[in-house]
Amino acid sequence: MDPHQIELSREIIIGNDAYEEFPQVLEKLGLRGPALLICDPTTFDVAGRRVTEILKADGFSVDRVVCNDVTEKELERVRTKVDHFRFVLGVGGGRIIDTAKYVGTEESVPYISVPTAPSHDGIASSRATINKEDRRYSYKADAPTAIVADLDIIGNAPMELISAGCGDLLSNITSVEDWKLGQRDNGEYYSDYAAALSVLAAEITISSADMIKNREERGIRNLVKALISAGISMSIAGSSRPCSGADHQFSHALDYIADRPGNHGHQCAMGALLSAEMRGMDYSQLKRTMEELGIPTTIEETTFSEEEATRAWNEAGSIRDRYTVLDVEEEETRSLFKRAGII
Ligand SMILES: [Zn+2]
Repeated sequence: MDPHQIELSREIIIGNDAYEEFPQVLEKLGLRGPALLICDPTTFDVAGRRVTEILKADGFSVDRVVCNDVTEKELERVRTKVDHFRFVLGVGGGRIIDTAKYVGTEESVPYISVPTAPSHDGIASSRATINKEDRRYSYKADAPTAIVADLDIIGNAPMELISAGCGDLLSNITSVEDWKLGQRDNGEYYSDYAAALSVLAAEITISSADMIKNREERGIRNLVKALISAGISMSIAGSSRPCSGADHQFSHALDYIADRPGNHGHQCAMGALLSAEMRGMDYSQLKRTMEELGIPTTIEETTFSEEEATRAWNEAGSIRDRYTVLDVEEEETRSLFKRAGII
C-alpha cells in the first residue's frame, strides 16, 4: 500500500469538570499567548464563559467570536481574525467545531475541540462539513490538537442532540458495508482496523442505549468515547469511509432538498435502515435501538415529506463521488421505503 499519514489529537480529556484541566493541557502543548474562542450564543452561556474564566485566571487573553449561523460569509469573517491568535477553541456543537476546524486548518493555527453536545462524530475527526456557495462541503482538515469534553455539560445537552450522536454512530454499520463494496469492486484501500473500530462504536451505542437514554454518566461517557473513536477510525482510514456511506449521502441530499431537514445523525440512521434493507441485512437491532432512543424510524416523525425523502434517496448516489450500495443495486424507491418501514 502507499504510505498514508494517520493524524490524531495529542491530548484528549474526558470527564466531569474537565475544563479545570485546561491549564495543564495548554502547558503540555506549549500553547501560550492569546486565544480565540468560537461559540454561539447558547454555547457561550453553557460552557464558553466558564472556559474563558479558567483561561483568564491562568493568564491567557481570550477573545471571542459569537457565530449565529455559520454561513460562508461568517466563516470568512472568523478566518480573517484567526492569525492574530496562538490557538483557537471551538466551544459548541457540530457547526462551531467545524468552523474552528476550518479556520484553524486554513490559517495553520492549532485548534481545540470543546464539544457541548454529543451530536456527531466530528468531535475528533479531521474532516469538517462547511457551507460554501449554498452547498455543504466535506473539507479535509487537521485533527484537533486537543479535545476537552466535560461530561456534565454534554450529559445535559438536549435529548435530540444526544440521540443524533447515537444515530450518526449507528449508521457506521452500513457505511462499513459500503466501504467493503468499494474495495471489492474498485480495489479501494480498506482498513480492517478502521472498519472494526467504527463498527465497535456502533455496537457500544447499541449496548449502552438504555443508559444513554437515561443520561447515566456511564452511558454518556460511552457515547462520547464512541464518537471520538469514530473520528479516530476516520483518521486511521485517511478518509471518512468507515463512517459515511449511502446512509450519509441520503442525509446530505436531504440537507439540500428538504425545506426543513432534520439533524444529521437522525437522517443518517434512517439512511442506514434503507441501506440495510437494500442489501438484505438483518437490521432489527438497529431499528429497535433507534426506537428506544427516539430517533425517527418513519418519515411521519420527521420534519421532511415523503416526496422530499424520495428525491433525496434517488439523488443520494450522485451527491458525491463515493461507491456505495446505490451504485450496485437498483430498487423502486417507494417499495424500498415500505419494506424498510419508513412509510
Ligand atoms: Zn456523520
